This record gives sequence, C-alpha cells and structure tokens, in this order.
Amino acid sequence: MSTQTPTSPERGDFIREIVAADVRNGRHETIVTRFPPEPNGYLHIGHAKSICLNFGIAREFGGRCHLRFDDTNPTKEEQEYIDAIQADVRWLGFDWGEHLYHASDYFEQLFEWAVHLIRTGKAYVDDLTADEIREYRGTLTEPGRESPWRDRSVEESLDLFERMRAGEFPNGARVLRATIDMASPNINLRDPVLYRIVHAAHPRTGDAWCVYPTYDFAHGQSDAIEGITHSICTLEFEVHRPLYDWLIENLPVPSRPRQYEFARLNLTYTVLSKRVLLRLVNEGHVRGWDDPRMPTISGLRRRGFPAEGIREFAGLIGVAKADSVVEVGQLEFAVRGVLNRTAPRRFAVLDPLKLVIENYPAGQVEEMEVVNNPEDPSAGSRKVSFSRELLIERDDFMEEPPAKFFRLAPGREVRLRYAYFVTCNEVVKDANEEVVELRCSYDPATRGGDSPDGRKPKATLHWISADHATPAEVRLYDHLFVRPDPGAERDLFEDLNPDSEEVLSGCLVESALAEVPPGETVQFERLGYFCPDSDSAPDRLVFNRTLTLRDTWARVQAQGRQGA
Ligand code: ATP
Ligand code: MG
Repeated sequence: MSTQTPTSPERGDFIREIVAADVRNGRHETIVTRFPPEPNGYLHIGHAKSICLNFGIAREFGGRCHLRFDDTNPTKEEQEYIDAIQADVRWLGFDWGEHLYHASDYFEQLFEWAVHLIRTGKAYVDDLTADEIREYRGTLTEPGRESPWRDRSVEESLDLFERMRAGEFPNGARVLRATIDMASPNINLRDPVLYRIVHAAHPRTGDAWCVYPTYDFAHGQSDAIEGITHSICTLEFEVHRPLYDWLIENLPVPSRPRQYEFARLNLTYTVLSKRVLLRLVNEGHVRGWDDPRMPTISGLRRRGFPAEGIREFAGLIGVAKADSVVEVGQLEFAVRGVLNRTAPRRFAVLDPLKLVIENYPAGQVEEMEVVNNPEDPSAGSRKVSFSRELLIERDDFMEEPPAKFFRLAPGREVRLRYAYFVTCNEVVKDANEEVVELRCSYDPATRGGDSPDGRKPKATLHWISADHATPAEVRLYDHLFVRPDPGAERDLFEDLNPDSEEVLSGCLVESALAEVPPGETVQFERLGYFCPDSDSAPDRLVFNRTLTLRDTWARVQAQGRQGA
C-alpha cells in the first residue's frame, strides 16, 4: 500500500482562487475543508475527484480536511461502507488525522437547534403526509400553498416535536419544517423538511433516535460545528445554498462556513451513481463492489490502477464550474503514464504456441539477463531461464502472413527478446490442421539479441521457457457499458456490455510472477499492464489486465486533430 503524499500537479482553479483570496484577505486563520460521504455505498472515481480537491486544498494551504460521514439516513447506511470508505480515502494517499467525524455525533446539538428554530417562530411541526407535502409544494412555475399546520402555536410544535423524538408517532406521521416562503421561486425554500420520523436503528447511535435530520439541516450545521471554512460540493447543491445560508443565519452556530459548488465528474462508458452501482452488485452483473470493471475506488485498485494515477487524473481534469463529460480514455492515459514509469516488465504468454529449437542442446538452460524497466535504470535486471522448448504467443505466428505481418512465419527469422534470433523451419499441425508446434533453429552468435553481422529481424517476440513457466488465469476487461452515454436511449441495464470480462485459462507466466504482491502492477511485455487479482492464490494464479499498452486516448486525440 502506498503511503506517499500526493504529488499530482497543483493547478489553479476557481475554487483555489477563492481560497487563496480568502487567505490573502486574512478572512480565515486556517483553511478547513471536509469530504462528506454518505455511507450508503462504496466510493467511486467521482468521489476521488472531490477527495483530491478537498484534501488537496487543505494540504496546499496548510490547513486540514475532515472526513465526515453524512450518516443521517439509517435505513440505507452500513458499517461495511463506513469501513470501506476510510480504507479507500487512505489508499488514495490522504489522511484526516484525528479529524474523523459523523453527522450523528451532532444529533443532540442539531435537535437543540431545531428546537431553537421552533422557539423563534422559524419552524413548525407539520401533520401533512408526504404526498400532501409534495402536492402543496407547487411546481417550478406555480407557487406552493401553505400547510394548514404552519400557524400552529410554538408551544404545540415544541410539544409535538418532543413527542416525535419520544417515539409516539409512526414513520411519516409528522415532520418538522422550516417556516420560510411557500411562494419562493426556489423550491428548496418552500418550507423545507428539517426532521423526519424514521424508526430504524442507526449504525452508530443504535436506537437512541427515531427522528433524523435531513441532509439540508445536518450538513451546514455540521460544517459550522467543525469550523469548516469552505464547504465544497457538487453543482446539484447550488440550489440548496440559499437554504444553507438561511439556516446558518438563523441559528446560533459557532462559525459561518460558506458553500461553493463545482462540476461533478462524469465519465464516458461509465455510470457514477451509487444507486446504480448497488444494483449492479445486487443483481449479480459484477463480482462485487470491487469488481475490476467497477468505477469504484476499490474496483480500480483491484484492477491495478495505482493511487498516483488516480490523483494525476484528478489534476489533469481540473475543477470547473460547468458540467461536462470526461473521456474515460483520459483516466487510462493518466494511469498508463504512471505505470509506464513504475511497472516492472515481465514475460507472460496468454495464448501459448510451442516453439522447439532443434539445434539447441536438450537439457541445457541459460539464464538470460533481462531488463526490469527500460524507463527506470534503478529497477535493475533479472535472470530469465531459456531452453530448447519455448512458448510464444499464438498470434505472433502466421503460416501465410499478409504483407504487413512481420512476425514469425515459415522460413522467417525473428528476435526472441533478450535471447537469440530464431528461424522457423517447420510447422507441425494436429489432425484438425491446427498449428501445434513450430520447429525452429537458432543462431548462437546472436545471444542477448544482437547479431555480429548487423542482421536486424523486423520483429522481436516475447517468450517463456516451457520448463520454467507457471500456469495462470488471466482476466481481460472492457468497458462495463457499450455506449459512451449509458442509458441515454434505453434502459441503462440494456447498455451493459456482455463481453466486459473475458477469462483466459491456460496462460503461462514467468515463474517470478508467482511472487508479485497484491496491489503491484507489472507490464507483461508487449501485452499490457497486469496485476494479481484478489482471487489469486500461490497454487492458482489469477491476473487482471489493468490496461492494454495501446494509448487509446493519444490515438483519439490524434484522430481528432486529423479530422479537424
Ligand atoms: P452518488 O451520486 O454517486 O450517489 P452522492 O453524491 O450521493 O453520490 P455522497 O456520499 O453524498 O455521494 O458524496 C460525497 C461527496 O462526493 C459529496 O460532496 C459529493 O458532492 C461528491 N461527489 C459525489 N459524486 C461526485 C462526482 N461524480 N464528482 C465529483 N464529486 C462527487
Ligand atoms: Mg449525496
């Protein structure tokens, strides 16, 4: 697990400009931000953007960032999610120190403040049902109507609110609402609900409460209690900001946080909604929240994406005020950049074809010196065993090669990487005419991969010695959805990609790969980046393909330029 501090490029954006101006003007002594997940699912790459922003700002301005669970909805929240969220934030490389909080820590204070609003004539207990409240609320074009209970006395509301807390009423029988303005053009100000009755045990407070604050009532007040200076959230909360401010204005809170909104991350071929991700898990479309195809942090981790790559992606896309959709290729581009620098190179053959070197002594084994990472000399080299019987990738051979195929073919010479030049002399087939073996010869003068006479084969292949190979299962992944905009034209689940996972058995990998620790991603030479899956065991290796080597994003960009 990586414990290094984030190194992603620090860019200016409109939120950082606001914070910088506040620092310059001496508005705050310390900048305090927070990341406020609701523990009703696992974190996804969209949350990673918010985490990098909130923790990043705190770090850059010498402040701090709190991790606060917005745990106000006990029917959907679970301890499993609370634990997973903490593990994911840490893995991303961020640390909240001692500042771990829960909205539920403040339930007593929030209740007192609700009472304060009733006392000051700014809140009332409403007996309308949920349906009636909706009906009375009006629409974007029509004002709402006031509840018949809006003018009930302070004493009556206080009494009912205490009795709501005491558990006298069933779910939905009554709510507490703020007395604001049923004719406001902003529907959020039409007497918003502050408390509802929910008879459900809470993961932290157990059965202590049966009334729970709404997001709107809990959030800003929690910010104020913690001394948050900049409460940064996504754009859908912009219309809630007048209510956020109204509550701060009308309550005796200890500080005056301000809310700022930025555009949420949307990614092509990807759905970032916990509700949908939960369905994918529950309906068995994936192996779990951490399925390597999931856009969850735990899925990306299992897939082999390094935390550094995710942080670089967050830096690359920046923070804007207008919603947009980011190419998923940009995420892959950022991750590939990190892996190219850091991933050790290894040999593996996914679809093995036997290659026998007829003039190589049977029983002889040579240890070839193989470079671990050409991008990183400090990664050194290793020994890889070479022998008479090898395996190469089946599609590196063609019996009747078309014009642009330069790899192995009958009569042709190629280089085996870090080893020798070999020439294919004979093709052995089985009864079904399928090629099962290539009989070759090698040139002993080409050891290490160069010929003294300057001969240069047009192709270099990877290989593995049959006696020194370890079997493995390899899982290849494609996007979970077939369309860049899943669900745009039909039910989202009809856009699921039936071929998003392909399981290859009978792959062979360099023996050293049995020792790759979980969480480390390597490059299988010429094939892509791969990492051991959590299903992998010493006697049954399983690898995930993290990414192919091909840089689709660069290609898309190049095509875009050509097209323009
Ligand atoms: P979802 O829409 O996936 O269910 P959510 O907004 O309900 O997510 P929360 O747990 O409430 O999830 O989110 C915690 C924080 O992460 C919030 O501040 C929210 O604005 C932010 N966040 C959620 N989704 C994204 C996203 N796609 N891009 C950027 N930030 C996000
Ligand atoms: Mg939310």
